[in-house]
Amino acid sequence: MRDVRNYVDGKWRHIDSAHTLDVWDPSTGNVIARVPISDEYQVGEAVGAAAGSASEWRRTPASERVQYLFRLKRLLEDQIEDLARCITIEHGKVLGESRGEVRRAIDNVDMACGTPVHLQGVFAEDISAGIDEAMIRQPIGICVGIVPFNFPLMIPCWFLPYAIACGNPFILKASERTPMTAELLFELLDSLGLPPGVVSLVHGDASTAESLIDHPDVRAVSFVGSTPAARAVYARAASGGKRAQAQGGAKNSLVILADAKLEAAASFAAESAFGNAGQRCLAGGSAVVVDAVADDFVEAVAHHARTRVIGSGLTPGVDLGPMISASSRQRVEALVEAGVSEGAQLVVDGRQPTEEGFFLGATVLDSVKPAGIVGTTELFGPVIGISRVADLGGAIEVVNASSYGNMACLFTSDGRSARQFRYEAQVGNVGINIGVAQPMASFPFSGWGDSFFGDLHAHGPHAVEFFTQTKVVVERWP
Ligand code: NAD
Repeated sequence: MRDVRNYVDGKWRHIDSAHTLDVWDPSTGNVIARVPISDEYQVGEAVGAAAGSASEWRRTPASERVQYLFRLKRLLEDQIEDLARCITIEHGKVLGESRGEVRRAIDNVDMACGTPVHLQGVFAEDISAGIDEAMIRQPIGICVGIVPFNFPLMIPCWFLPYAIACGNPFILKASERTPMTAELLFELLDSLGLPPGVVSLVHGDASTAESLIDHPDVRAVSFVGSTPAARAVYARAASGGKRAQAQGGAKNSLVILADAKLEAAASFAAESAFGNAGQRCLAGGSAVVVDAVADDFVEAVAHHARTRVIGSGLTPGVDLGPMISASSRQRVEALVEAGVSEGAQLVVDGRQPTEEGFFLGATVLDSVKPAGIVGTTELFGPVIGISRVADLGGAIEVVNASSYGNMACLFTSDGRSARQFRYEAQVGNVGINIGVAQPMASFPFSGWGDSFFGDLHAHGPHAVEFFTQTKVVVERWP
């Protein structure tokens, strides 16, 4: 049991906050740490330190700035086991999933090392006789990242490495439910010898995030979390005249056609829905299956659900860890009950009495009504809801009826169907015979609809766009 610390102005700070929250080990239900709720004063200190570092950091050549990231990449690689263990302890996902998350974080640091190339501007001679024009990129200023609990290392790395490579100070508001991994990341950052104030870590809840967004010296806000919070953060940041990108929740459909390789599709669907205990914004929690193969698909997915080994993520052989909290588990259990009241069939019931930990077993609901509560709500637990449709057209209608638009995947052997799906699905990420269509760090990532508020997405080429502002210079030398 310990108190997690803020990291401000190049120093660790114990916050003597009257208001703290408990951090749980979800596999035991024990409290393992306390997280302080930083107030306006602590936020002001972090922004002040960032402001103090901004001028020197901006003047540091980009090629020198990324040297810190090359070293960070090496440190992350050396510490992969410690980082993965920390993620598993406070989040619950199984060790293999945590290792995968660390790798995805490293991919982003890798990508950000190439920032000097992307910072280059544009120059055109003789836009009029004897007049030249250039467009250069300059850092936007102090940037803030507000992140969710479900990828406590990877998601901060969607923003922090790019922001600092572009010459900006960056302040992270970690999730209050998984703050220890952020602390470990900042221990690595601390050992790099960055100028004080370039990176800061401020713990807290929504009130801390709001203080950061409202601070007049903060110029850009990157947010990832639930849709109501994403919408609120985007509106708040925009009303303060700040640049914002706010990624929200999701309801992702996996469409299974009659010509799909059914066993493989069921296996990918099970992994998509139950992996990370369903707590992924790219979880395929909704399968939309054509009638001709629906019974066989339900049977195959049910087999995967029944044979998934549930337990602590640290135990070898376990492939389904606990959910993040008792209240999250209760919420999902209530949604399963709501599905049954709406007429869905409970093919596999993962609800189980457990003495300790926040476990929910893999659950399969068949004949879910696409427009009902289970069909439209982000479940964020290890549950797959299966709906039946006549054909691809009916499946695309279900996909496009969702208010979200994060991901949709199609399983088929037919290129024409695949093209139609890619063309018509109203989502930001499409998978063809893929269960989790997560873009690599070199591509931009975000959803459409209620899954995203803003225009520039996370990582890939959009990162440099987001973390810089362009300036045009028109020159004549008579
Ligand atoms: P959450 O919205 O409860 O919290 C996310 C972060 O926002 C936390 O740091 C929290 O302190 C802060 N916060 C909450 N309300 C706020 C408000 N009104 N103003 C400012 N800050 C606020 O989300 P969570 O439960 O931690 O994460 C799960 C959600 O995140 C799911 O909906 C999931 O789909 C989504 N998510 C989306 C993506 C994506 O890329 N679209 C990725 C991961 C997770």
